[in-house]
Amino acid sequence: FGVGEYLRSHIRTVPDWPAPGVQFRDITPLLQDPKVFRVLIDAFVHRYMDRRPDVVAGLDARGFILGSVIAYELGVGFVPIRKKGKLPFTTVEETYELEYGSATVELHTDAVKPGQRVLLIDDLIATGGTMMAGKKLLEKLGGTVIEGAAIVDLPELGGSQKLREGGLDLFTLVHFE
Ligand code: 5GP
Repeated sequence: FGVGEYLRSHIRTVPDWPAPGVQFRDITPLLQDPKVFRVLIDAFVHRYMDRRPDVVAGLDARGFILGSVIAYELGVGFVPIRKKGKLPFTTVEETYELEYGSATVELHTDAVKPGQRVLLIDDLIATGGTMMAGKKLLEKLGGTVIEGAAIVDLPELGGSQKLREGGLDLFTLVHFE
């Protein structure tokens, strides 16, 4: 019984949310149980301890929960990539396509300095659009994304493959078909 299966057994699947036909993978039970939360965070921390990034970037909003704790444990700073209209200082922005419509994410212009190595964190990769937008924002500021990391990959949606083809190394702990 490996870490992936252990974590997988604590993810709740909610049918028909937020829309009919969607199987939402709810990661909140992983955070609620302190033993599981520690196993989860340690899995990321152990991977990056010996090739420590300069900064951890978290994607709105569950990427904040994971990313801030991982950054704290690695002893590096945390920067949030937020949905448009939430960050007070000057920003760079990136718009990407959703199934219906589009979304825009922003990053403070001083969040990353040129040449810094960045670890990009979210909870889940579906189509990969969110993580690709985050990578582009970090690269606009001259950052290098060493890896994109998430708890869950949904490989059937093709996002992780597209991200890898786009030059982003990925680390995920749980797969759902
Ligand atoms: P993508 O941009 O890869 O299509 O979608 C990933 C983004 O949508 C992530 O920020 C993630 O939080 C959210 N997301 C989409 N589907 C799910 C899901 O089933 N469970 C969770 N926890 N997040 C999801």
